[in-house]
Amino acid sequence: MFQKYISQVNLEKKDKPKLLLHICCGPDLIIPLLDLKKYFKLYLYWYNPNIQPYSEYARRYKEYIKILKLEEWDFEIISDEENFWKEKISLVKDDKVLNKYDNNEFYDKLFEHKEVVWIKNNDFDKTMKDFSQMEEKNSQRCDICYYMRLLEPAKIAQKYNIDFFTTTLLISPKKSVEKLNKYWELVTKETWVKYLSFDFRKNNWFQRASDYTKENNIWRQNYCGCLWAKK
Ligand code: SF4
Repeated sequence: MFQKYISQVNLEKKDKPKLLLHICCGPDLIIPLLDLKKYFKLYLYWYNPNIQPYSEYARRYKEYIKILKLEEWDFEIISDEENFWKEKISLVKDDKVLNKYDNNEFYDKLFEHKEVVWIKNNDFDKTMKDFSQMEEKNSQRCDICYYMRLLEPAKIAQKYNIDFFTTTLLISPKKSVEKLNKYWELVTKETWVKYLSFDFRKNNWFQRASDYTKENNIWRQNYCGCLWAKK
């Protein structure tokens, strides 16, 4: 499945090609991790300013870390732009990402595109009450969300000279692969990092992922991520 991509890099190098894998959540990481690790040196990067409320963000992040701790493979974690960790997963500092929770970045972008009109806040109850004020027609919220979550990891891949980039968003049944590929074209123009659009949904992925989550007691979220999806 991945051979055609591997041939795109210098095969004279003994090392596997480097691939930055953007993580949207733990359950959607399982199949990409299982399938890609054979072919690539993986660099994992969690970036999801769209997830609300904080309790949901923290819970999803903890499931992601749980999966990393279950596995002992050869991959590296990129915590943020300034810290490029070489340590093994046991050294991942959960608090570092959790303390950085800031969905203003997401709202700033929506605000910029006139997608939201209400005050940014992390008060879930208050914001839910304000839903009646939102204009849902012709919303480009998901487009903006996709674009952000492609662009930021691509910049990281560029910064650390990682050969390829892809995202676990490609496996999520709630996401449009067509749109992801469309926005990737824009991201490529800004970063020049090579994007690999894998079809992770092949090869009985759902059953394999379900078996893994059951066997290892991994919790799966029941909405996409933002307050609109929650509603
Ligand atoms: S529904 Fe999902 S993809 Fe769309 S804006 Fe919300 S979190 Fe992002």
